[in-house]
Amino acid sequence: MYKISDIVNAGTLLTSDGAWGTYLFKKGLASGSCPEEWNLTHYNDVFEIAKSYVDAGSDIISTNSFGSNLFKLSQYNLHEKLAEICQTAVKISRKAAGVDKLVMASLGPTGKFLIMGDVTSEELYNSFKQQAIAFEKGGADAVCIETFYALDEAEQAINAVKENTTLEVICTFTFDKSEYGFKTLMGVTPQQMTESIILCGADIIGANCGSGFEDMVEIVKSIREVSERIPIIIQANAGLPVFENEKLVYSETPENIKQIIPKLIDAGANIIGGCCGTTPEHIKVICEIVNQFNQRKK
Ligand SMILES: [Zn+2]
Repeated sequence: MYKISDIVNAGTLLTSDGAWGTYLFKKGLASGSCPEEWNLTHYNDVFEIAKSYVDAGSDIISTNSFGSNLFKLSQYNLHEKLAEICQTAVKISRKAAGVDKLVMASLGPTGKFLIMGDVTSEELYNSFKQQAIAFEKGGADAVCIETFYALDEAEQAINAVKENTTLEVICTFTFDKSEYGFKTLMGVTPQQMTESIILCGADIIGANCGSGFEDMVEIVKSIREVSERIPIIIQANAGLPVFENEKLVYSETPENIKQIIPKLIDAGANIIGGCCGTTPEHIKVICEIVNQFNQRKK
């Protein structure tokens, strides 16, 4: 089996995929319903999303499992179906990816805060462990722990994957720009994240979501200040969403990001994809630029 970090360490840049959540809503997911339940009830719709990213040129495909933890699933009374939902999520993306492309299972935060006493470390670990085991059974290559903001929760997620599976661990945080620089919801800087989650054993680290591709250039530079070698993945939103005619519209078009992708690569990003608001059209643009860089290196 390929290790994503081995490919990247050999000097090859990779393209991951784009948005899932905003894409599901476009396909008719009602707000307030459980996105991950669609793995069981709307198999073909979920498959079409994965396939559209494979066709756009993604080397790594994500899965529809962002909120597939015990805490979020129990809000829909679906917690007993956790393993089935997680395994099916991976199977759908694996079917779209075939044998040539890689599958990273999406694992989002629980929404519970250790610091507030909402939950114990053991409860978090147990939920992440169940997800990780199901992802491995489904045939994933890696787990992508993404959109995290708290170091303590990330540590539980990384440990749960590493101690119960042989899957590669990708971990990305979401940073907002403030007058004091980039910080997560819990006040973690890119530098602090880098130090801490490398120590926890993450194989690939980076940032996702946030305010768009342009801001990610600075975040990549901050990560590289701390580690020259750790593979970096960036999956940015298509800018900040604005309401236009009662619809959420994302400001960074595929044309806009053409100028920014080379800057991300120059700063040290190894894997580039998108988050909220990005489409297969964005991925085609990223893939084209990534392939040009790979050709040049040969
Ligand atoms: Zn996002």
